Amino acid sequence: MNKISITAKDRVFILTGAGISAESGLPTFRSENGLWAGHRVEDVCVPEAWRRDPEGVWKFYSELRVADKNAQPNPAHLALAALEQQLGDRFFLCTQNVDNLHERAGSKRLVHMHGDLCKARCERECGCPPVVDHAIYHDLKEVPHCLCGGRMRPHIVFFNEIPLEMDRIEDEIRHSTLMVVIGTSGSVYPAAGFVHLARQVGARSVYIGPEAPLNAEAFTHVVLGKAGEVLPDLFEVQ
Ligand SMILES: [Zn+2]
Repeated sequence: MNKISITAKDRVFILTGAGISAESGLPTFRSENGLWAGHRVEDVCVPEAWRRDPEGVWKFYSELRVADKNAQPNPAHLALAALEQQLGDRFFLCTQNVDNLHERAGSKRLVHMHGDLCKARCERECGCPPVVDHAIYHDLKEVPHCLCGGRMRPHIVFFNEIPLEMDRIEDEIRHSTLMVVIGTSGSVYPAAGFVHLARQVGARSVYIGPEAPLNAEAFTHVVLGKAGEVLPDLFEVQ
């Protein structure tokens, strides 16, 4: 595999998906049997589920918090943190994952477009910012309330909700010269469309993962392989 050279003029936009977390042993959002960590997505990740069964939703995300805590960043997470060290503010990482493996690897210029497992926010969207929350909830009585009286919910983008920080993400893509997409199926929008925006602004685009994504034809390079094996030797910073 040829190395990807990064010059002093390049700005790098990285998008990561479930594949990079799967290499650390975390369950993927869309498995072959349609389950996420043994649960049906429609039971835990839609606004109706929160209205119908907030305790069940919190129990599920509490399980994911335990799994996240027990998992470790893999060489792909570490390679991205090392690349950020070299590039500084010419590096930007957008993840579709809700786990905190990128943070624990050392990534800083990072947004979680689908939410953050380690935060909670008011269910009433009253304007209070999300708060750090690592608690494991077994009972709804344990779940705190906001000052406004609303119950705190996971800071997770449920299906049919709008992804977070889209303006900042689009702005970063428009200023990028290289997009690297890692371990996503290319089927979940708007993330699957990022590569098209990158191409419009003339950026190179590289995909890395064990299988070609659905939107493979949009990339200038597709590298088939595990992210943890490919990424540590991929970049040549000039
Ligand atoms: Zn509130």
